[in-house]
Amino acid sequence: MQTKQFQAETKRLLDIVIHSIYTNKDIFLRELISNASDAIDKVYYKALTDETIQFNKDDYYIRVEADKANRLLKIIDTGIGMTAEELEDNIGVIAKSGSLSFKKDNEPKDGHEIIGQFGVGFYSAFMVADEVTIISKAFGTEEAHKWESKGVEGYTVEPCQKETYGTEIVLKLKENTEEDQYDKYLEEYTLRSIIKKYSDFIRYPIKMNVTRTKPKEDNQEEYEEYTEEQVINSMVPIWKKNRNELTDDDYEKFYFEKHFGFDKPIRHLHINTEGMVSYRAVLFIPEKAPYDFYTREYEKGLELYANGVLIMEKCGELLPDYFSFVKGVVDSEDLSLNISREMLQHDGQLKVIAKNIKSKIQKELVDLLENHRESYEKFYQSFGRQLKYGVYSDFGSHRDDLQELLLFHSSKETKLVSLSEYVSRMPEDQKYIYYAVGDSVDRIEKLPQTEMVKDKGYEILYFTDDVDEFAIKMLREYKEKEFKSVSSGDLDIDTEENKASDDAEKENKDLFTEMKEMLTEQIKTVRASKRLKQHPVCLVNEGDISIEMEKVLNALPN
Ligand code: ADP
Ligand code: MG
Repeated sequence: MQTKQFQAETKRLLDIVIHSIYTNKDIFLRELISNASDAIDKVYYKALTDETIQFNKDDYYIRVEADKANRLLKIIDTGIGMTAEELEDNIGVIAKSGSLSFKKDNEPKDGHEIIGQFGVGFYSAFMVADEVTIISKAFGTEEAHKWESKGVEGYTVEPCQKETYGTEIVLKLKENTEEDQYDKYLEEYTLRSIIKKYSDFIRYPIKMNVTRTKPKEDNQEEYEEYTEEQVINSMVPIWKKNRNELTDDDYEKFYFEKHFGFDKPIRHLHINTEGMVSYRAVLFIPEKAPYDFYTREYEKGLELYANGVLIMEKCGELLPDYFSFVKGVVDSEDLSLNISREMLQHDGQLKVIAKNIKSKIQKELVDLLENHRESYEKFYQSFGRQLKYGVYSDFGSHRDDLQELLLFHSSKETKLVSLSEYVSRMPEDQKYIYYAVGDSVDRIEKLPQTEMVKDKGYEILYFTDDVDEFAIKMLREYKEKEFKSVSSGDLDIDTEENKASDDAEKENKDLFTEMKEMLTEQIKTVRASKRLKQHPVCLVNEGDISIEMEKVLNALPN
């Protein structure tokens, strides 16, 4: 029998796969199961479009079989199957999906990444097997075929016997090495957990024989083992269910099962969108920040599925940094399974989804703020800082998304107030949104600089968080009202005292000059104050950087 050569590209890919030192080899099973599921989809589609074909759901399944004695792992499906030609075209040739072509010019070391993150489809089988056999009978044909390969040397195709339509993939597992125990892929426990992890939501049953024990019939004291075929996957993921069928408890359980957090989420969003890009998502707004949330170690992202198949555990592209606290899953039929991380960044569909998700979260938070203030404030305790960082980063370009979500302490209320609340009760003659900065509300209340503004009846926002003033500097204004620090040189408030201080300026000219000379290192000038009532003196600053901002900047490591 003639051994046929792989195309040069395929050979290269195989070489990368075979010599991969990538640790997560488990994903080979995900790839083969997803191919099996695709193959059943194709029969299903045929049946849907051709009246002469019956589709009996029970006839369609995927089976995983371990043959320990021969070190074989089989993945069997009752899908569309492949003709000899298709075996050559689809398997003998590198996947059209192009997961490799974009990598062509890169160093081979990047190969590990291709495999690890996205899978290379069928060829991932060679990460764990040194010999792969495909026995397949295409739907509506008489003859079955066997495709066999030991890797780079090439492959053979020959006719063979197979009763039913579908495909059987047989992997001869590699010998164990010091780093890798390939025979674990024959263990029920390993197979079950990999299937659960990556393929739980495949729409067709994934069956496997499992060993169980029962009391012996003749002696109830003793137990005997027996095997039973079980369906391992749960088939219907929560996000594919109808919102009405689900209770808050179901969502909370899911949150917990997925290890999204140990808190009780404040809100969940169940999205089912059809349009330019169709996707479903279940997202959570947590109550508490994870311990590493405000550190570099924290990694944002949502679980990404392509039509029920997990392709990435943390897809960061789906969330803006300022919503990095959101947890959840996204599933779209419009994404390719073999998409790579590099490609994801440029993927138009993913961008549409991300944009859509962002606005959904934003709306949800506004709703929470407007209608469930207490919950929102709890949320804000944990993640308000992240929102403020968001305003600050990218030169305030997210202002529309975020400015409505900000809350600050205030001179008028013991609770936090939003900018919109502040502006809505501004007296007509007030030109600015005033704020004061300090370590705590108590301290700010005692600042002499706040005196005149308060006296005038104007509300002052109290900034107690380092990032507050930085964020507000990026916003510059809210609803056409500029922000002004009560410590800035020019408060632009008309009062009786203005006139008096102008006179005082003249009368005390010599004194002020003297004072200025004594304090040349510390201050720039001495002026008669227009803002003090109870206090004899206060510091004000000129320019954009306030005293408090300077403190923060000085504290930053160089
Ligand atoms: P992809 O799934 O992205 O197309 P793969 O490398 O996983 O890439 O598979 C290549 C092709 O081989 C598939 O598109 C399909 O045509 C064929 N194939 C693989 N596994 C099966 C199977 N179990 N049944 C039928 N066809 C299959
Ligand atoms: Mg595939």
